[in-house]
Amino acid sequence: MIITYLYHSGFAVELEHHILLFDYYTGEEKNNTKQSWELPTWDKEKLICVFVSHKHHDHFDMNVFRLADVYPKIHFFLGSDVKLSEKYLERNGVSAAIKEKMTNIGKNRQLAYEDIDIETLRSTDAGVAFLVCVEGKNFYHAGDLNWWHWEEETELYNENMKKSYGKEIDRLEGKHFNAAFVPLDPRQGEAYRYGMDYFLAKASADYVFPMHMWEQYDWIQKYKNALMQENDSKYDECHMANENSMACKCKNCIMEIKHAFTQFFIA
Ligand SMILES: [Zn+2]
Ligand SMILES: [Zn+2]
Repeated sequence: MIITYLYHSGFAVELEHHILLFDYYTGEEKNNTKQSWELPTWDKEKLICVFVSHKHHDHFDMNVFRLADVYPKIHFFLGSDVKLSEKYLERNGVSAAIKEKMTNIGKNRQLAYEDIDIETLRSTDAGVAFLVCVEGKNFYHAGDLNWWHWEEETELYNENMKKSYGKEIDRLEGKHFNAAFVPLDPRQGEAYRYGMDYFLAKASADYVFPMHMWEQYDWIQKYKNALMQENDSKYDECHMANENSMACKCKNCIMEIKHAFTQFFIA
């Protein structure tokens, strides 16, 4: 399996017969120029499964539908807040026929599509988080489901947030994923790791990909250093948590993303 980190919370997972594309959007304005991240090219025989957790601009834009022009075998799984009328699609240059290739999924739902099993959690932000089981492998993509603790918020807000996040992540108790994509957001200051810590306390994954880092990738190392110092049993230091992690089998291997478009080759 090849996992490509695209940008922010965007990942592509290439499997033998399927491509899973999570929260991919095509660019960000920076110094008045549009930056964009090209996708790898895939075998057109593979089924492309596009997952959009919610409609916020850092997780979705309309360009994602252009993939349907290139890949005939494609389906879009959209969080329930991504509501696109035929008129809206056509105003944005997307044929309304694409609707046949779209499925909206609400929170805490289960859905089977061909040989793929999908489950959702309710996000603490908007839309959903995805659990995807395909080709005998399990994946978790959080979208913006995170423990959004903010120092400047009221105690009540933070207390409710803790409860809502806990309620959803508790549903994952004991689950194991081949790969999990989980926020680690530096904007939260000292609370940057609350969501990740809670996730790792309840579930586990062969490979954990931190995301939603606003390009501050050094926070991954900061987090790993903190875990090592704490000697936490939920984490073994891994010396292979890098590109070409072919054979690593440690628990909750936290992957070191260093820049957009890093590819990980996983056995
Ligand atoms: Zn969001
Ligand atoms: Zn976001």
